[in-house]
Amino acid sequence: MLEISEDVLYDCIIIGGGPAGLTAGLYTARAKLNTLLLEKGTIGGQIAITDLVENYPGFPEGISGKELSLRFKQQAERFGLKVAKAEATKIEKSGKEVFVHLRDGRMLRAKTLIVASGSNPRKLGVPGEDKFLNRGVSYCATCDGALFDGLPIAVIGGGDSATQEALFLTRFGSIVYLIHRRDQLRAQKHLQEKVFSNPKIKFIPDTVVEEISGNEFVEKLILKNTKSGEVSELEVEGVFIFIGLEPNTGFLKGSVELDEKGYVITDEKMMTSLEGVFAAGDCRSGSTGQVAVAVGEGCIAGMQAEKYIEDNF
Ligand code: NAP
Repeated sequence: MLEISEDVLYDCIIIGGGPAGLTAGLYTARAKLNTLLLEKGTIGGQIAITDLVENYPGFPEGISGKELSLRFKQQAERFGLKVAKAEATKIEKSGKEVFVHLRDGRMLRAKTLIVASGSNPRKLGVPGEDKFLNRGVSYCATCDGALFDGLPIAVIGGGDSATQEALFLTRFGSIVYLIHRRDQLRAQKHLQEKVFSNPKIKFIPDTVVEEISGNEFVEKLILKNTKSGEVSELEVEGVFIFIGLEPNTGFLKGSVELDEKGYVITDEKMMTSLEGVFAAGDCRSGSTGQVAVAVGEGCIAGMQAEKYIEDNF
């Protein structure tokens, strides 16, 4: 495990080890900036739990999210990026320096900071969701899909994630119910076509989950049709929830400007309202949830951090 030092004034600290953060780190490390990347969980962020990334250029057959993340990391480390496991809880600026407070009480200093902290799965907020977490309820098909081999599974949501993961889960489930609150899916058309032509997926439109129920493990869902108001029960053992993402920006409150949904506001140079502090990827206001975009934004943030140091130190 890499030792991180409170005595060093880092050229650049990056918060978050997903595609945006690792690309920013590739650029700053390659520009010979002493760069430390902090990741509190798994390297790769959301794509590390994505089975197959099919729309990142250069991989015509697609590539597993985990493999792609490891390649991003290896490439950045080859140029000297330091990666450490740590959680930032607060940032502040004093004079020219940025201070990053860590969960363990330590405080790090840097000339520039790049926030690439990504986003977390949104919760449904219905009874049973917390109680049955890891006992039938999951937010990661790659991690937990195999636990439901031969069993009925429900996927909640209508976006790219829900459809893509429903397709993945057909490898395991005896049947995969795709439950969406409207009658139109939001997902890209080619994913919709795959879903509607897959005999193992049953689309349940205009339906919301009222409750996740069972004894020790999930046994059924209580559903409500939003048009007729009819309430019904559906027997499932796995419930995978993909209803969007929420930015992981709680530690920034009061320090940089956030939009009404909590995403970080930046200018076109990825600079936040605090000079020397940049943001990139899914935590940024206007993010698209695409790996290619996160990589591009990470690249801009890394290059701009380098320029900021040249101009200010
Ligand atoms: P998303 O695009 O925001 O879709 C969320 C889905 O959940 C929507 O269908 C929404 O319904 C539904 N929903 C939201 N809140 C709900 C609630 N409380 N109860 C029931 N349903 C609810 O989120 P995502 O699919 O996680 O994708 C996030 C980002 O990553 C997107 O930008 C997406 O394009 C990107 N992504 C891309 C790929 C890819 O390129 N292959 C794969 C995965 C993700 P409504 O439609 O009614 O709003």
